[in-house]
Amino acid sequence: MSQDPCYSCGKEIASGQSFYEDHGVKVCINCFRNAKRCQKCKFPSSHLSKVDGFGYVCEFCYSSFSKEEGMSCYLCNGKIWSNSSHYADHGKVVCQSCFKDAKIRCFTCRFPHVVKNIKGQGGVCEFCLEKNLTAESNLESMLKPLQSFIQKFGHEISGKPNLLWIDWKLIIGMQQEKPDNIVLTFFDELVRYCYPVYYLKGLYYVIPSIPRQWFMPYMAGQMVAADLCKKYNLFHLRGNSPFLDLARGWSHWVAYNTARTLKYDKPAKTISRWPESTLPGNFQKFLAMSEFRKPTEIVEFAHENLEFYAKKYL
Ligand SMILES: [Zn+2]
Ligand SMILES: [Zn+2]
Ligand SMILES: [Zn+2]
Ligand SMILES: [Zn+2]
Repeated sequence: MSQDPCYSCGKEIASGQSFYEDHGVKVCINCFRNAKRCQKCKFPSSHLSKVDGFGYVCEFCYSSFSKEEGMSCYLCNGKIWSNSSHYADHGKVVCQSCFKDAKIRCFTCRFPHVVKNIKGQGGVCEFCLEKNLTAESNLESMLKPLQSFIQKFGHEISGKPNLLWIDWKLIIGMQQEKPDNIVLTFFDELVRYCYPVYYLKGLYYVIPSIPRQWFMPYMAGQMVAADLCKKYNLFHLRGNSPFLDLARGWSHWVAYNTARTLKYDKPAKTISRWPESTLPGNFQKFLAMSEFRKPTEIVEFAHENLEFYAKKYL
C-alpha cells in the first residue's frame, strides 16, 4: 500500500515507516526530527510564524487564527491570539509589542497610547481625554446631588464650591511631609499617597484631569472637611490631635460611603485602604463600627464626639 508523500519534503513515505499525522497531512520521521514544533498544536513545521504575545505557530494554526481565533490590536491592527497575553481596557485590546513599545502611558488608566499631554498631569489616552473631568467640565449636575448627599451625614455646603485644578505634584505636597521622596507615574499610585481632591483654606484643589467615579467620593469627603473647618474655624484638618484625627477619619468615612453608595467599586476599595498615612485619621474606627452599628448611629457618634473633642482639644 503506497503512502501519501511527506508534507514537508515531498518524499514518499515507505510503508511500514512511522510518520506524524495532523491537519490532514503526513510528515516523515526525518522531517519530524528536524522540525521545530508549533507551540499551539505541536505540529512539526518548517514554516513557523510568530504570533505576538503567544510564540511560534505552524501554518495551519496561523491561518485558522486569522479566520476565527483572536482579535486585532487596536493600535497596530496586528493579530492577537485569543489566549495570548495582551492589554485590555476601554473595550479595546492592545498587542504585547505595542504595549512594550509605548513610551508614555495614560496617567489616569495606563492605556499604552496617549493623544495629548496635560500640563501638570502627564499623558492622557483618547478615552480618558473624552471622559475625565477637567476645569472645562460642567460640574453642576454632579455637585448639587453631592451637596444633598452629605446632608445625610449632617453637613451643609452652601453655594458653589471653589475648585482649583492644579499640578498633582502640588497637591501631593499639600498632604505629604516629604513629597520629593515619592516616585510615581500613574493615578492609581497617586491615591496611595494623597487625595486627588484636597480642601485647604476655602479652596478645593483638584488634579487637572480626573475620572468622575474618583472625583465624586473624594469631593464628598473634602466637602465634609470644608464644613468642619468652617464650623470649628480651621484652615484645614492637618495636624495631630484627637479632634483632627476624628475629623479626618469622618471625612474619609463619608468619601468611602459615597463610593459605596454610587457603586464605584474600585474607588471604594482604594479608599478603604489608602492613603497609607495619617490622612485617613480614625477611619478604621468608623469602618469597624459600621459592622455593628446603624448608619444613623454612626452619624450621631461622629457629631457628638467631634463637638466633645473640639471643646477638649481645640
Ligand atoms: Zn519529510
Ligand atoms: Zn499548529
Ligand atoms: Zn499592536
Ligand atoms: Zn486613559
